[in-house]
Amino acid sequence: MEQQLPKNFEAYAEGRKNGFLKIKSVKESGRNVAGYFCTFAPLEIFDAANVLAVSLCGMSGETIPDAETELPKNICPLVKSSYGFALAEKCPYTYYADMIVGETTCDAKKKMYERLGKLKDMYVMQLPQGVDEAYAKPMMVKEVKLLAKYVEKKFGVTITDEALRKAAVKRNEYRHALVELMELQTEVPAPVPSVQLYKFMDSIKFNFDLDAAIASVHELVAKIKAEKAPKENEKRIMVTGCPIGGVLDKVVGAIENNGGRVVCYENCSGIKATRCYVDTDAPDIYEALADAYMKIGCSVMTPNPRRMENIPNLVNEFKVDGIIDVTLQTCHTYMIETRAVRKLCEGIGKPYMSLETDYSHSDDGQIDTRIAAFLETI
Ligand code: SF4
Ligand code: SF4
Repeated sequence: MEQQLPKNFEAYAEGRKNGFLKIKSVKESGRNVAGYFCTFAPLEIFDAANVLAVSLCGMSGETIPDAETELPKNICPLVKSSYGFALAEKCPYTYYADMIVGETTCDAKKKMYERLGKLKDMYVMQLPQGVDEAYAKPMMVKEVKLLAKYVEKKFGVTITDEALRKAAVKRNEYRHALVELMELQTEVPAPVPSVQLYKFMDSIKFNFDLDAAIASVHELVAKIKAEKAPKENEKRIMVTGCPIGGVLDKVVGAIENNGGRVVCYENCSGIKATRCYVDTDAPDIYEALADAYMKIGCSVMTPNPRRMENIPNLVNEFKVDGIIDVTLQTCHTYMIETRAVRKLCEGIGKPYMSLETDYSHSDDGQIDTRIAAFLETI
């Protein structure tokens, strides 16, 4: 089948759109491409092998009907969207990927990888789920090494420790630049509009030249610093929970339209994983990588104390007025954690709201009304 662009191509953020167009020329230039699903994928392995790593998380409902021909309807929209893009060959990143790495996070993703393995060269990285157990670190180190071995064999390359260390230094530089951008929101009033901030952080992942990506984050930070902050003092919101790329306009657009500003994205693409720097001076670079990626406080881990430790610290740091916990429909791990997060927020005296949604537009009005009512209470 010919590779197609998504029907709603025009609606994609600039970075993703440009990336769609760029990936074809990257492939034609002879560079290898690896797709990955989650923030747990150690991207330094691909950087050290000169393989382009690209995120494959589906953020559009367009391909969900395709996915539902093979997957149950009652699983998370992100999983269905991602699988649908592969099945319908509508995602240029998936289409051109020479291999895909999936990490064993939630059950829906794990089982989806089994189907995806019928369509693409699928490599599954087995993550330790009890990250604080004594066995977890050796297991993670082993898994990172196994991935490196697979990449070496697949692409006929050698990944040296030196190249890995260099890649980690560069990725850290990228993480520091993004964190500097996010930290601008600690100011009162917070200078960056919420949707714009998220779109930038999402788009930058699709700038395949890491040096250029770092330069463009620095440029944006400098521009924001030079501009005068907005006059209004909006209600300062933290967004936590599931990845929100597929519900951005519905949720964050509504926060903005009702007088709120997201000052902190605690979830994926936001600060949670970006602050997980690699200790590039550590004697063993594989151990350093394992340590860094195991710090991500995701609900698929059990128990998941890091999220509960992070939230109050971020509330203080970003002077948050209220917390909105977004869960995608049927995401059991995040849904079950809503109770603990609510209790945590009550304990620190901060208003909390949990929102469950999906990639459709059927609840747009209801979400807007609920967010408006929540912001009224702050
Ligand atoms: S929420 Fe967890 S499983 Fe999902 S992309 Fe983020 S780190 Fe991965
Ligand atoms: S949002 Fe939840 S169910 Fe969906 S892929 Fe992430 S962890 Fe899995």
